[in-house]
Amino acid sequence: MPEKVSTNETSPRDSDILAAVFHDSKRPLEFCMLPRPEVQSGETLVRIECCTLCGSDLHTISGRRSERSPSILGHEILGVVEEVSDAPSVDLRGETLAPGDRITWSICVSCSRCDRCTGGFPQKCRHLHKYGHALAEGRFALSGGLAEAILLRPDTAIIKVPNELPDHVVCPANCATATVMAAFNAIGSVEGKRVLLLGAGLLGLTAAAVSRSRGAYVTAVSDPLPERLALAQKFGADGNMMSQQFDVVMDFSGSVDAIEVALECAGIGAKIVLVGSVMKSDDLRLNPEQIVRKCWQIHGIHNYAPSDLIDAVEFLRLNYKTYPFEELVSAEFSLEAIDDAVGYANEKRPIRVAVRPGEAKREGH
Ligand SMILES: [Zn+2]
Ligand SMILES: [Zn+2]
Repeated sequence: MPEKVSTNETSPRDSDILAAVFHDSKRPLEFCMLPRPEVQSGETLVRIECCTLCGSDLHTISGRRSERSPSILGHEILGVVEEVSDAPSVDLRGETLAPGDRITWSICVSCSRCDRCTGGFPQKCRHLHKYGHALAEGRFALSGGLAEAILLRPDTAIIKVPNELPDHVVCPANCATATVMAAFNAIGSVEGKRVLLLGAGLLGLTAAAVSRSRGAYVTAVSDPLPERLALAQKFGADGNMMSQQFDVVMDFSGSVDAIEVALECAGIGAKIVLVGSVMKSDDLRLNPEQIVRKCWQIHGIHNYAPSDLIDAVEFLRLNYKTYPFEELVSAEFSLEAIDDAVGYANEKRPIRVAVRPGEAKREGH
């Protein structure tokens, strides 16, 4: 049982909320009891049911990626509404939210009024807030998934989750699935097209399922790990990736080498979608004459808009039985065993590991 620290001068109260706080990569996550916040207008207090650890969380904990701190990491969250403010609160589809509703929400909270929001890039809002990536301070200290609860800000794009969807299928919907939807929404139909996907992590596997379900003629997946390629086949990838020309190339690997090799098979009019390069990397060798003569379209996709999250939940609802999304979470830990969860994720390198804060048993209960 980890030691718990109260951030109050007074002793912890029953209503206090356990959170694992990140300071820096040289210190273990610190268990803190944070006061339950009062819910004000437009806010929603959510009990966290399950949170999957994303690659970015692991990179932050290990120091490969820098994050402001102290913070509560974790953004791939499934929760249950505990308290809503008095103002009527609705989800993305306009359905009323009430305590007990099972929900997820967009990682990005945007103002919907600035030039970037009105220009179609709410994820680049000038007043952007991102769950799991914010300072844990003040009223909104509870802003990440590695805690028993989270306080959602006004204007959060919330979506109710169908009861039939298993927890482990839903958790990554607001990260991997929604980002993949943004990538496909950027390029239009892939029906009858030859699609090449680089990287068979959660995004690449999800993209394989989307490509297959939307009628691509070929769905090829490239990954250095044979076991990942075998898994990709369960998600709709074609077994034999013959060298050929592709109409769509999507990168989820962030590997410059992989992208350069793949561009050699990008055909006339190819749509090239870069998603995986979210860390510092070398420059890409790209010949402008080739882009011109081959009439390529190049898209950069970072995060997504709320409408992509609607598509993500709907895609999972329709396809979670066809493709084994549930198997991608290979272990589950309580919040108090977060160090074990991180150790397991780093050592075994599964697609995802889940943390279930509700399992945490409070001292004195
Ligand atoms: Zn994520
Ligand atoms: Zn904005």
